[in-house]
Amino acid sequence: MEYKLSDRAKLLSPSVTLAIDAKAKELKASGVDVVGFGTGQPDFDTPDFIKDAAKNALDDGFTKYTQAAGIPELRQAVADKFKRENGLEYKPSQIVVSCGGKHSCYNIMMALCQEGDEVLIPAPYWLSYPEMVKLAGATPVVVEASDATEFKITPDQLRAAITPNTRLLIFNTPGNPTGTVYTPEEAKAIGDVCVEHGIMILSDEIYEHLLYDGAVHQSVATCSPEHQAHTIVTHGFAKAWSMTGWRLGFIAAPEPIAKKISAIQSHSTSNPTSFAQVGGVAALNGSMDHLKVWLEEFDKRRKYAFEKLNTLKGVSCCNAKGAFYLFPNISGTGLKSGEFCAKLLEKQNVAAVPGAAFGADDNFRFSYATSMEQIEKGLARIEAFCNSL
Ligand SMILES: *Cc1c(COP(=O)(O)O)cnc(C)c1O
Repeated sequence: MEYKLSDRAKLLSPSVTLAIDAKAKELKASGVDVVGFGTGQPDFDTPDFIKDAAKNALDDGFTKYTQAAGIPELRQAVADKFKRENGLEYKPSQIVVSCGGKHSCYNIMMALCQEGDEVLIPAPYWLSYPEMVKLAGATPVVVEASDATEFKITPDQLRAAITPNTRLLIFNTPGNPTGTVYTPEEAKAIGDVCVEHGIMILSDEIYEHLLYDGAVHQSVATCSPEHQAHTIVTHGFAKAWSMTGWRLGFIAAPEPIAKKISAIQSHSTSNPTSFAQVGGVAALNGSMDHLKVWLEEFDKRRKYAFEKLNTLKGVSCCNAKGAFYLFPNISGTGLKSGEFCAKLLEKQNVAAVPGAAFGADDNFRFSYATSMEQIEKGLARIEAFCNSL
C-alpha cells in the first residue's frame, strides 16, 4: 500500500556511513574477508572505570527517570570540564545532557532554526548536519573548502555566504570527515565574522581531545564573552571515551537556549539513559590516562596511512592533525567517489565512505580507527585497486 509521508520525511536521505557499514557487515557475516575503513568510532573499549560506575548504578537501582536535561552531578561535571579544560564558565543550568552528540546537534537545530532560515555548513561536512537542518525546515547553505586549504573555509568565504536569512554556522573542529583542525587564530577569525553579523555558532567539539603533531584545539567560545554568547558548544562521550553505544552527549549554551533545548528534550526523548549518565560522571571526573595510549596508537596509524596513501596512483592526501580520519583526493584516478568506493568494495573487499556523502565527490573518507594490521592489508588492496584502473 501507498503510505502518505510528511514532506519532512521525504526530504531526508538515510545515513550513508551507516549504510556502508551495514553492507560491509553483511559481506563479513557471509564469510568474506572485508577490510573496513568506514567506521566512525574508536576501535578501543570503553575504559573499565566508566563501565564499573554504570554497573554499580544499575545494581543500586538507578533505573528510573531522571531530570530531562541530565542529573545534576553530570551537568556539574560538564560545567567543571569546560572550566578546567577550556577556561569557560557555565552554570549547570546552561548544560543539557542528551542521547549522544548527534542528538545534541539535532536539539540545537530544533531550538534555533525554522522555515526561511539559512544554516551555513562548511564542506566537507559531517553528513548528518544538512539532514538535521532540513528536518528543522531550514535551508542548508554549503560553503566549500578543498584540499588546497586543508579543507578550511576562510573568513572571506564565510562573509560572502551570509545573507539576511543566515541564522547559524555549523563549525566542526577537529573535523569529520577530514581530520582538519583550525588553529586558534583561524577559529577566532571565523568566530569574529559570526559575532559581527549576529550569527550563532554550533561548535561541534566532539573530537577535541584527538589531536596530533602538536595541534591545539581552542573552542571558538573562548575568544571573548561575546563569542561565548554567540556559541553553543556540543560535545559528547563517543570519541575520547569510546562510548558510542551509550548514547550520551552534552551542550553548553546561553541559558535561554539551554532552557528551550531542555524543554524540547523533555517532550521527545526525556532524560538520556539513567545509568549511562552515571558512567558519564565517572568519565568526566576520572583520569584521561587511557587516551594517551589511544592517541599514540592512532598517531602511528595516521602517519603510516598518510604516507602510503600519497604513494598511490591517482591519489593525493593532505595531512590531518585531528580526529581519526584522512580524506584522500582520488581525482587522479578518473573516478568519482561513489564509483570508486563501490568498485573498491566489489573488487577488493575494502569498505570506505564516498566523499559525496560529505559534500566532496573527489575524495573518500579513510578512518584509521582500526588495527594497524587491517590498515596495512587494506592499503595494499587499495594500492592494487588503483593500479588496476
Ligand atoms: C561522532 C560524532 C558526533 C557524535 O556522535 P554521537 O555518537 O551521537 O555522540 C558528533 N559530531 C561529529 C562530527 C561526529 O563525528
